[in-house]
Amino acid sequence: RETLEALAGEIRVRRPVVAFTGAGISTESGIPDYRGPNGLWKRVRPTTFREFLNDPEVRAAYWRRRRERYPQMVQVEPNAGHLALVRLQEAGLLSTIITQNIDGLHQRAGADPESVIELHGTVHEIRCLECERRFPAAEFPLPEGDEEPVCPVCGGIVKEATISFGESLVADDLRRALEIARDCELMLVVGSSLQVNPAAKVPLIAAQQGAVLAIINREPTPLDPLADFVVQASAGAALSYVADLLTG
Ligand code: NAD
Repeated sequence: RETLEALAGEIRVRRPVVAFTGAGISTESGIPDYRGPNGLWKRVRPTTFREFLNDPEVRAAYWRRRRERYPQMVQVEPNAGHLALVRLQEAGLLSTIITQNIDGLHQRAGADPESVIELHGTVHEIRCLECERRFPAAEFPLPEGDEEPVCPVCGGIVKEATISFGESLVADDLRRALEIARDCELMLVVGSSLQVNPAAKVPLIAAQQGAVLAIINREPTPLDPLADFVVQASAGAALSYVADLLTG
């Protein structure tokens, strides 16, 4: 609690601060993370971008999973952690939310959509890998059975607008995130193992340029030694406490 109280004091001084979030902020909404103790990678192997491009069987399995999982994803609700960040934003204490999450829960919680940078894309859009057009998932019904969806405009291969292993990030998103990291006075990392690059470079660069670095995560991270505040706690409780102190 003392650490969170000191952190709240820093946020007040260094506002507007920037948040950098990972899968850990969404586990309390019921979406498993990848590398935590119950992480998804303990059960399944991720599909790589190359496999997706080259192998129709892999694509069929990918779309089968999406048909199963996406309807659940639409029903998931934001939790206390997402809502606390929105409270900080509405109070003018938080500007940008740079997220590795693909679930859209920051926006669902009420964060200004313009202020959210989704470094790893979103499950709520479908993207054509040939013509780069994007379609809201709601306007892109998947064909029945095992038929593969294609771009309605050019007929190209389509995929969720998320970044797979081996796929490049959207250059403009990464550029904006790094620029913000270079300029911010305090970066608040929440629920990320900080093991995925280049995303993890964002808080690293913030710390290197002299920003205060705060990390709220249940487990240790490789950037803990560089951080000014390390809080090993649940995101929902920790962020609500900070938001209560600052906006209550
Ligand atoms: P990660 O799985 O590597 O790490 C998550 C971290 O959060 C772990 O260290 C874990 O201990 C911690 N954690 C879990 N629940 C927590 C909680 N309630 N409070 C505080 N900490 C908690 O996730 P990452 O660092 O985001 O990177 C992995 C990749 O996972 C990203 O590329 C992202 O695209 C993807 N991912 C996204 C979602 C999502 O959108 N919700 C879900 C799973 C994975």
